[in-house]
Amino acid sequence: MTDNSIHIIGGGLAGCEAAWVAANTGTAVTLHEMRPVVGTDAHQTDKLAELVCSNSFRSDDWECNAVGLLHAEMRAMGSLIMACGDASKTPAGGALAVDRDGFADMVTDRIAAHPLIKIERGEIGAPLADWRNVVVATGPLTSPALAAWVQNLTGEDELSFFDAIAPIVHFDSIDLSVAWKQSRYDKEGPGGEAAAYINCPLNREQYETFIDALLAGPKTEFKNWEHVPYFDGCLPMEVMAARGRDTPRYGPLKPVGLTNAHHPDERPHAVVQLRQDNALGTLWNMVGFQTKLKHAAQTDIFRTIPGLERAVFARLGGLHRNTFLNSPKVLDARLRLRADPRLRFAGQITGVEGYVESAAIGLLAGRFAAAEADGREPVAPPATTALGALLGHITGGHVEGAKRSFQPMNINYGLLPPMDPPKRAEGGKPFARGERGRAKKRLMSVRALADLDAWLTEAKADR
Ligand SMILES: Cc1cc2nc3c(=O)[nH]c(=O)nc-3n(C[C@H](O)[C@H](O)[C@H](O)COP(=O)(O)OP(=O)(O)OC[C@H]3O[C@@H](n4cnc5c(N)ncnc54)[C@H](O)[C@@H]3O)c2cc1C
Repeated sequence: MTDNSIHIIGGGLAGCEAAWVAANTGTAVTLHEMRPVVGTDAHQTDKLAELVCSNSFRSDDWECNAVGLLHAEMRAMGSLIMACGDASKTPAGGALAVDRDGFADMVTDRIAAHPLIKIERGEIGAPLADWRNVVVATGPLTSPALAAWVQNLTGEDELSFFDAIAPIVHFDSIDLSVAWKQSRYDKEGPGGEAAAYINCPLNREQYETFIDALLAGPKTEFKNWEHVPYFDGCLPMEVMAARGRDTPRYGPLKPVGLTNAHHPDERPHAVVQLRQDNALGTLWNMVGFQTKLKHAAQTDIFRTIPGLERAVFARLGGLHRNTFLNSPKVLDARLRLRADPRLRFAGQITGVEGYVESAAIGLLAGRFAAAEADGREPVAPPATTALGALLGHITGGHVEGAKRSFQPMNINYGLLPPMDPPKRAEGGKPFARGERGRAKKRLMSVRALADLDAWLTEAKADR
């Protein structure tokens, strides 16, 4: 007999959120968690929704911080993770930090007490053939057996075991009176665009200072179990510089095939290139800049690059053990695997980054799975909401180049369609420093919550 319940594999942040939202629509759920039968390198307990590192859900400011906005949207949708986070909150200023044991105990107890959720402990190496509606939420440390099974379905190149994250910059913070748009040798891309990159020129002195800072800057250490290999195609920038001061200049920073649009007679000693990262064109990644430099050092050092002096970073660089799909290619807009649509993915394995983002995608996956179990077509939240923007990014908004370039992403305002605040503050006075940026975020947050509310009202009316 066909099993009509929803099977969720992985009882982390995303799996618990998916189970909760699906069960609350009246659908039976089985939640499969391998701990404590099989452990991971980072989890320490048998609790559901264990926080493996920091105890912070980051900023709780819904008006001017994108993760705070995501908190607010999740609360409006009845999130279990946010309810338990709020109930186990510890003092942390404007951030939402939680008592990690109290939080995990509360999630575990509420899931265990739900009449429609059954918890089964044990590793799932592959979903059973008669499970028709499956959510895979096995996280950055997905067990090798399940990862191998997924890789077999997607193809070897579409599931990564390490990330190599280059920083991403908000377009409107790049100084285009210094930087300019041009592709090397004005070569046209597949879309006919011959000026696809933003170029930042460095003279010899600026380059040498930059290399000194890269070599001296504080780095994050790998954990003993991470075993992150360095591939020649994506060496950290500081490792490249350590191999030879000129190595970056002969690699991603080579100054050839480019003419400085502002000073055509000056030949740059090196050029940092940025490539468009999302379809909206609001985010640009620094090509070849994956790094283990600590975040504060990245901000300081990368702002010495001409044109990036006032750069606002949507994401900073990193390299970690992390299992994640090339989601824009292998998932459809409702998080289903194109190669086997009975499987839906949620959490960090979809290429979002962080506790809150992982839970948010769990919430959507649970909602979509429940709609399908009920015979309804799942409807996504509007792209103007943080939830919709995050979903849009992993399932299509990210721009793929010739080479696979999708890397994990936190929520940030650059993923939402931009809005233009008035040029002047109330009363016609000029904005104080930073205030116009905050006004822009506030406008986008207010729009997001209004659009989410309208979407939820419409969804209720359709049931
Ligand atoms: C070392 C480390 C430190 C991190 N630090 C932070 C941080 O400080 N802040 C932050 O926001 N994010 C951090 N992250 C990212 C963090 O893991 C995610 O944000 C979040 O936990 C992802 O939620 P998830 O539900 O997708 O995965 P998880 O929370 O990892 O849950 C996945 C669950 O699936 C289970 N599982 C795996 N394979 C199977 C299988 N085959 N069968 C059954 N069960 C299985 C696992 O045991 C686990 O319980 C860190 C990640 C790592 C690896």
